Amino acid sequence: MSRAVTMEKVVNLAKRRGFAFQSSEIYGGLASCWDYGPVGIELKRNVKEAWWREMVLTRSDIVGIDCSILMHPRVWEASGHVAGFTDPMVDCKKCKERFRADKLSDARCPERPSKRPGECGGELTEARQFNLMFKTFMGPVEESANVVFMRPETAQGIFVNFLNILNSSRQKVPFGIAQIGKSFRNEITPGNFLFRTREFEQMEMEFFVKPGEDDKWYEYWRERRLQWYQQYGIRSENLRLREHEKDELAHYAKGCVDVEYQFPFGWSELEGIANRTDFDLKRHAEYSGKDISYYNEETKERFVPYVIEPAAGADRATLAFLVDAYDEDEAEGETRAVLRFHPRIAPVKAAVFPLMRKDGQPEKAMEVLALLRRHFPVQYDQAGSIGRRYRRQDEIGTPFGITVDHQTMQDSTVTLRERDTMQQVRLPIDRLVDELKRRIEI
Ligand code: ATP
Repeated sequence: MSRAVTMEKVVNLAKRRGFAFQSSEIYGGLASCWDYGPVGIELKRNVKEAWWREMVLTRSDIVGIDCSILMHPRVWEASGHVAGFTDPMVDCKKCKERFRADKLSDARCPERPSKRPGECGGELTEARQFNLMFKTFMGPVEESANVVFMRPETAQGIFVNFLNILNSSRQKVPFGIAQIGKSFRNEITPGNFLFRTREFEQMEMEFFVKPGEDDKWYEYWRERRLQWYQQYGIRSENLRLREHEKDELAHYAKGCVDVEYQFPFGWSELEGIANRTDFDLKRHAEYSGKDISYYNEETKERFVPYVIEPAAGADRATLAFLVDAYDEDEAEGETRAVLRFHPRIAPVKAAVFPLMRKDGQPEKAMEVLALLRRHFPVQYDQAGSIGRRYRRQDEIGTPFGITVDHQTMQDSTVTLRERDTMQQVRLPIDRLVDELKRRIEI
């Protein structure tokens, strides 16, 4: 399929149909912050639910957790974030704009967008390290003793709760702890809509294994995580795994691979799968003075587990699902945008339409709506021609359209139209819920 998609089209559709809006737009907007609208929030919730289902609900070896965003400042000393969570930054002496020194080839001069920073005649400063953590103050006194950080990743909440989970659940190594939640990074150059923002949601899982079994689990998770995106409809030609070069690896990581997606702006990271070794648990043991290790009752061995971490971004994944679903085709002589979401990811599962606004059809359609609403997010639409109503739903990716017509009033059957094939079948109203469930489950 040719890729009709551009970021501009996606951003326009997202605004027009209520997926995402610029934050504080009426005040001129706040850079790199976005608000999800009525359909966007359902899309993102479905992405997170698909992840939670895969990582937690369908497994007996992974449990969930939800940690606070503010944590003890020592956590970030132990994790290495205070000293090392930095990006190299350069300033343009001419326009005063700041850029990430390691991403200059992706950046554009704000005054001469056809040029890269430094190629526009402006001189760049030497690179300086810039810490990406947001700071705030806890309590009423704004002094350095009260500084706390907004977490830049959810992972550390998991590591510091390792003993709590071990003592309160019946998990044995190998097992994992999963978390979905907000993280904050004062990115130097955010951009590309939801791709890089300063406030975002992560979906992270730390899988604790016996040292020596880490390579096996690393292989396992890299394949599993790639499959997950495909399973929910992202085309495999737009996905790839990219192994990090040795010099790209964080100093504690033994291996790291990115799941990348081919966005209109190029191949970019959706998720990283890293072998974090025993670095984090050992550091927290050292900084807290607690024995953070695991005792295997059967083999009488004590060890500090190694950790395999699949770390994904909920907003980046949502953007990838949106971009990948975007398509255009011709319907009734017009170009229509259609989002070909997998039914499980689609924000609205079905729309109910009365063919005519008379003969009891709207009332019947409302009955069908009430029946479906108990099971799925559904919408009702009676405005305009039936073709126009289908197109409105195609634009938000609703996979099924249900029409109540003259025949419905005689025999209680409706037509069910599928978004992509546009094929219609007729079926009794009392079979509708089961039929939709069957089709959505795929
Ligand atoms: P990048 O190289 O793109 O800055 P990263 O390698 O620093 O990302 P990780 O620390 O591995 O990212 O975070 C795990 C995931 O969290 C990323 O794969 C991404 O999906 C998401 N993520 C990280 N930073 C951001 C951001 N600023 N905006 C949106 N999502 C983000």
